Amino acid sequence: MAESIIKNNLAEIHARIEAACARAGRDPSEVGLICVSKTKPAEAVLEAYHAGEKLFGENKVQEIREKAPVLPEDIQWHMIGHLQTNKVKQVIGHAAMIHGIDSVRLAETVSKEAVKAGIVMPVLIEVNMAAEESKYGIRPEDAMDFVGAILPLPGIKIEGLMTIAPYTETPEENRVYFRGLRKLSVDINGKYSDNLFMHVLSMGMTGDFEVAIEEGATFVRVGTGIFGERNYHIE
Ligand SMILES: *Cc1c(COP(=O)(O)O)cnc(C)c1O
Repeated sequence: MAESIIKNNLAEIHARIEAACARAGRDPSEVGLICVSKTKPAEAVLEAYHAGEKLFGENKVQEIREKAPVLPEDIQWHMIGHLQTNKVKQVIGHAAMIHGIDSVRLAETVSKEAVKAGIVMPVLIEVNMAAEESKYGIRPEDAMDFVGAILPLPGIKIEGLMTIAPYTETPEENRVYFRGLRKLSVDINGKYSDNLFMHVLSMGMTGDFEVAIEEGATFVRVGTGIFGERNYHIE
């Protein structure tokens, strides 16, 4: 039962991704779907995997560490939540990308642990576009200096930017934040063009991923739209 719901949800989400891409004149292959499986059991992940999904997102290190060993090895785990520096060690080598870099100290810790492990960790910088007090992320106006400060770190590769837009019933209200994140990315690439090319924009969730795609998202992070009970039927 639950299994076919996940499969149906995925079919619906992909259809909506394709429609958003068509509206924006984009190729759907440019938009990666990260299935946000936080709090959901490994069986739910496996069902999505068998429906063709390879990218999964978690916001707790422990959940990646628990699920990954019992699931197929070609799954890419994305660490999308706030990462505490004392948890960094546990995620290195287990996550394909860390989405929430928002302090120099965190970036330094990730770099140090990655170097120790002999890898370069792909990371995204989290930007709090709407200046919400409750949210993590650097301020957009600090982004240039922040990139300058962490760019020399040898153990990280800055792949792009990530934002969590405000919760809203009206996705259109978040367009301004998605557009702003994209502009910021263009500006940063312009300023640091000798040392950096960011190509990832991780933005858009169940409530607003279509608007995010129209504004250039290359990763959307969808949880309840795939695994939740409420959103399994169209409309
Ligand atoms: C939970 C979560 C999501 C998914 O949210 P839904 O509204 O369930 O799609 C996306 N991004 C982050 C960072 C999250 O923590």
